[in-house]
Amino acid sequence: MSFDRDTICVQGGYTPGNGEPRQIPIIQSTTFKYATSEDMGKLFDLEASGYFYTRLQNPTNDYVAAKICQLEGGTAAMLTSSGQAANFYAIFNIANCGDHVVASSTIYGGTFNLFHVTMRKMGIEFTFVNPDCTPEELDAAFRPNTKAVFGETIANPALTVLDIEKFAKAAHSHGVPLVIDNTFATPVNCRPFEWGADIVTHSTTKYMDGHGAGVGGCIVDSGKFDWMAHADKFPGLTTPDDSYHGITYAEKFGKEGAFITKCTAQLMRDFGSIQAPQNAFILNLGLESLHVRMKRHCENGLAVAQFLANHPKISYVNYCGLPGDKYYELAQKYLPNGSCGVVSFGVKGGRKAAETFMKHLKLAAIETHVADARTCCLHPASATHRQMNDEELAAAGVAPDLVRLSCGLEAASDLIADLSQALDQI
Ligand SMILES: *Cc1c(COP(=O)(O)O)cnc(C)c1O
Repeated sequence: MSFDRDTICVQGGYTPGNGEPRQIPIIQSTTFKYATSEDMGKLFDLEASGYFYTRLQNPTNDYVAAKICQLEGGTAAMLTSSGQAANFYAIFNIANCGDHVVASSTIYGGTFNLFHVTMRKMGIEFTFVNPDCTPEELDAAFRPNTKAVFGETIANPALTVLDIEKFAKAAHSHGVPLVIDNTFATPVNCRPFEWGADIVTHSTTKYMDGHGAGVGGCIVDSGKFDWMAHADKFPGLTTPDDSYHGITYAEKFGKEGAFITKCTAQLMRDFGSIQAPQNAFILNLGLESLHVRMKRHCENGLAVAQFLANHPKISYVNYCGLPGDKYYELAQKYLPNGSCGVVSFGVKGGRKAAETFMKHLKLAAIETHVADARTCCLHPASATHRQMNDEELAAAGVAPDLVRLSCGLEAASDLIADLSQALDQI
């Protein structure tokens, strides 16, 4: 029996048996007991599935990962300690020293730094392409050693909407998977697998948790990418792993399970960026109302965007749900039920006026955060993106005067009144 997304938000991933806890139990245990060494040996050889050490897997985390997996329509998923860990693992699981990745230039600042600085030091090169490029320009970014394509459904903070089908087509024509960071849209508003994406990542810190309570991440596999058909490109999945007695992930776990099994067995084992079961429990509380909250975040986002678009002290507004926005048509296609609660805009008078305006906001707090129940705002050029030079800022779609406002769940009338009085102070 398959359920609607709204039902999966509430009940997916965990079905208690007779007399078992109704709420997901927090398995606060680092380790698990076995009767014989032989039983445990089978787990270490990946011959049997089961729990033996929470760095690799924990039942609480697996319940929550299973819910997100169902929401995205995937075949396997895992939680990570943060969105950063999710994106790092998703790429590093298939790209190694000497490899290359094509990424959209308008991605989250933390991800840009991870790719452009840290992963470059590991010998992986990235080519950043304008998400609005032509198919020919996108095609030209590929090299023989390209192993993946990466982009964000709705980019943080540029709010560009990715033409997922265009990126999927390019990736597949070069025999590599498309990895989509679906943090801002959430599977409530967009399921990238339906448009050809192969792997989806999340910073669950944002809307999924939704209450600013726990940092976390998630990776979901669509189970569609045929690693064996491109065996020479992905030896990590298609040749024996000596650290597990020579199993070959793509053979033993198939298209449905190879990617996440390898990611857990190798990367989680070696890097250990696990989500604490306590945090997974908190994340699940957020997921139970995700479908209800996203609707309200989007309503507030649209109301605020409309108010700002008509205000004489505002120079521009980016919100893909606003008719006339550069991404309105793409949003109608990929996000027909709404996009997210994040609106960005420029205040006339540039950086100085933006700072004055933000100082006078009473409800919208200045925070390095988005996608929270409480409205918050940020000046990316002086915070998340301050490591970028002007050229990189422009490529990331972040103007020096850009303010990012994340509309929470308050009454839209109060949010608009707050913005209005703060604009009056300029
Ligand atoms: C916040 C964010 C991340 C990083 O996630 P953390 O949980 O903060 O590590 C990655 N991608 C996007 C789109 C984000 O908004």
